[in-house]
Amino acid sequence: MASKYVYFFGSGKAEGEAGMKGLLGGKGANLAEMTNIGLPVPPGFTVSTEVCTYYYNNKKKYPKDLEKQVKVALQGIEKLVGGKFGDERNPLLVSVRSGARASMPGMMDTILNLGLNDSTIEGLIRKTGTERFAWDSYRRFVQMYGDVVLGLKPQHKDETDPFEEIIEQVKQERGIRLDTELTTGDLRELVRRFKQTIRDRLKIDFPSDPYEQLWGAVGAVFGSWMNDRAVAYRKMNDIPANWGTAVNVQAMVFGNMGDDSGSGVAFTRDAATGENVFYGEYLLNAQGEDVVSGARTPEPISQLAKDSPKMYQQLERVRRILEKHYSEMLDIEFTIQQGKLYMLQCRVGKRTAFAAIKIAVDMVGEKLISEREALRRIEPEQLNQLLRPVFDSDEKKKAVEEGRLLAKGLNAGPGAACGRVVFNAPDAEEWRLRGERVILTRIETSPEDIKGMDAAEGIVTGRGGATSHAALVARQMGKVCVAGCSALNIDYVRREMRVGDRIVKEGDYISIDGSTGEVLLGQVQTKPSEVLQVLLDRTLDPKDAPVYQQYAKLMRWADKYRRLKVRTNADQPDQASTAIAFGAEGIGLCRTEHMFFGEGKIGPMREMILADTVDQRRKALEKLLPLQRKDFEGIFDAMDGRPVTIRTIDPPLHEFVPHEEPAQRELAAQMGISFEKVRDRVNSLHEFNPMLGFRGCRLGIVYPEITEMQARAIFQAACNVQRNGSKVKPEIMIPLVGNLKELDHQAAIVRRVAEEVMREEKMKIPYLVGTMIEVPRGALTADEIAEVAEFFSFGTNDLTQTTLGVSRDDSGRFLIPYVEMEIYRKDPFEALDRSGVGELMKIAVAKGRTKRPELKIGICGEHGGEPSSVEFCHQIGQDYVSCSPFRVPIARLAAARAALSEDATEDKNSKKRKKSKKKGKK
Ligand code: ADP
Ligand code: MG
Ligand code: MG
Repeated sequence: MASKYVYFFGSGKAEGEAGMKGLLGGKGANLAEMTNIGLPVPPGFTVSTEVCTYYYNNKKKYPKDLEKQVKVALQGIEKLVGGKFGDERNPLLVSVRSGARASMPGMMDTILNLGLNDSTIEGLIRKTGTERFAWDSYRRFVQMYGDVVLGLKPQHKDETDPFEEIIEQVKQERGIRLDTELTTGDLRELVRRFKQTIRDRLKIDFPSDPYEQLWGAVGAVFGSWMNDRAVAYRKMNDIPANWGTAVNVQAMVFGNMGDDSGSGVAFTRDAATGENVFYGEYLLNAQGEDVVSGARTPEPISQLAKDSPKMYQQLERVRRILEKHYSEMLDIEFTIQQGKLYMLQCRVGKRTAFAAIKIAVDMVGEKLISEREALRRIEPEQLNQLLRPVFDSDEKKKAVEEGRLLAKGLNAGPGAACGRVVFNAPDAEEWRLRGERVILTRIETSPEDIKGMDAAEGIVTGRGGATSHAALVARQMGKVCVAGCSALNIDYVRREMRVGDRIVKEGDYISIDGSTGEVLLGQVQTKPSEVLQVLLDRTLDPKDAPVYQQYAKLMRWADKYRRLKVRTNADQPDQASTAIAFGAEGIGLCRTEHMFFGEGKIGPMREMILADTVDQRRKALEKLLPLQRKDFEGIFDAMDGRPVTIRTIDPPLHEFVPHEEPAQRELAAQMGISFEKVRDRVNSLHEFNPMLGFRGCRLGIVYPEITEMQARAIFQAACNVQRNGSKVKPEIMIPLVGNLKELDHQAAIVRRVAEEVMREEKMKIPYLVGTMIEVPRGALTADEIAEVAEFFSFGTNDLTQTTLGVSRDDSGRFLIPYVEMEIYRKDPFEALDRSGVGELMKIAVAKGRTKRPELKIGICGEHGGEPSSVEFCHQIGQDYVSCSPFRVPIARLAAARAALSEDATEDKNSKKRKKSKKKGKK
């Protein structure tokens, strides 16, 4: 039997369903699903993504059987709608729409009204009785086909669209402003001029054979899968290139058949705030692209309820059915043809982090979803948006009073942003590279602008609504966005915008409030987000902070379902307190070297380094001891009984000494030695490869008195804090261990000093001694190391460097192209390289626990706050992750999601294993 490439949907029955997104793409699968649940969907068929893959694997040829299957499916549509493709009397018109597995808003181009030519138009006129509508449809078709399939579009960033230019010309000749004022004759003239332009510029005739049109359009859809912007979008969103896109061919319904017709897009809830209200826009007498492209600023859905309760009720009914069926907030596209509603698309709606959290929490309350499902729906990184600053309301009021409010648009992407105005996407990228913060300001945005949008702090558009491209993409990226700011007169060529007599030029500062839609001149001060005001500043009562409340609820659920503990990397008491406010359960990495740079400390530190004899070194260390002790007391106090992992000195010593002559002379004077001596000592510290040089435990082994001093400071501090009634749990961590004997040597010093101090102070401090696993030899000999180590912490920054043989500081020039070429899917310093570094970690966990089943294992590299790495840490059975304070909430959520996805896939065996492990711990 030949393979099936084409899947039909229509009249209540479909060959596909929502679960078939891989094969049918998101659009096709959901068209099938909506058909199956009885919603009004114009009939059509989906050409599967396998054809796209085939097409690229076979020099852009189609499988043999495809043409036949398409013909059969077309006949199926003809039967249901009662027209014939290419028929002069009763023509069937179709749309050709792309649809990939993951929704890629606006990335692929849709062609409407396909099947029209100089003879079928007569049939359309006769059938519908409205000549103007028919010609309007025809000119749209030629325009879209000319742009998408034939490629007649602006080539340069300042250029305008050639078809729009012709429309402008005709309007000017006729002295009219609006598209709706164009007469039938004008539209006919447009078709003529469009085709003429195509002939002049491309030296080809516009195809009149509907089948040629159809295959041209199908080819264009597949072709667009590999265009620059699609590739860029996939890269940004981690979508593999081999997924392919599907093509949907669907009978046309017409929103441009008069004022009882229209077209719209909507979200079943507010996509910016998450509020449970119908949120969307429509245009009467328009085809869908008009709303999506932002070419005309549409009316809010609430207006439809007033203007045409009948149409609105149909929509409201569909909204309820869909939310119940999908248990999700959906993004829908619809057309109303002469009073009757048709559904053209539905998909899970993109939303801001604010909306995502509110909707998830609300839907749990509405019993539409479970707590677990709510957690699955929030991407951990989204929490970042909640922590982002907002404008200080006093500052903004002042700015408004000073007359700096320039204009107001739609609050399309919440948050506060401030930057310099640029008027096109390439400039945004370029300025950003120079280190400027920019606000990308466009009349409207299109998929070509994606990289520039990504580079900008915020986005302003002059046209388009809350579901325009700009708004949609901005929300997805988490960018601040004000859309449809119609008061702005934007001039790309002069690179300025005007509001009345005020002019804002390229490079001027503006501030935009994406929560209110305000655009202000100059810079406006920001202040911390609601969550931070409650948690850190304590300037806001949780009662008055709805966003905080939702955040807190979600975090409570996360804590309920996660198994991994979450600690923080903090070197100072204030960082520790911040992390605790975010829910940290301990410190996973306290670096001691940062402490040596503090007030009064660098002097003795340098003396210690430059010392000639052990005696001199001890003297310098004696000066450091009380200073370090004080630092540790601060940390222990802040952590209030939570475990604190303290790493002994790690970086190469040359990082502490001055390298410039004046500073060296100053140091020499301070120490009462000659400048030459200082210079020579500094020079002798030079290393060819410091990352692999004299650092980590190697320092403590050659200069044991350093470790000794640090251990003494830690335990004295612990005793002092415990004496004041607080608990302390120090965990001393030896860095860069690759050999049991290294750890043995250092651990012996720590334990000896601990005993001494506890004897002197007459106190008992519970403590652990462990090691970082950050060189491959350490991982490979983890069973030996675990004889001494009471815990492991993966130092995945160094472990990545040493496993890959890549120095992170020198990797910029090749890692970026590497990631572009997908040699590594992601920067391995950002997301853990599971198959290399991860494999070593697995070995270390397994070997370590064979020797010491209760071995505590964590991670303290930067990966500890990156969701996919956290998931991996969960999977290999670690006990905790540790990350920077602001990433603690992200790690908590990522840990919960990891636990939940394990639950979903786990078989009974592994459950048993987990249980027995838990028992083992007790
Ligand atoms: P995108 O993926 O960019 O949203 P779509 O394929 O959804 O592109 O098409 C955009 C719009 O074109 C739709 O929202 C709808 O308004 C209109 N459209 C597509 N197919 C049809 C059709 N068969 N009849 C009427 N309008 C259509
Ligand atoms: Mg669409
Ligand atoms: Mg390290």
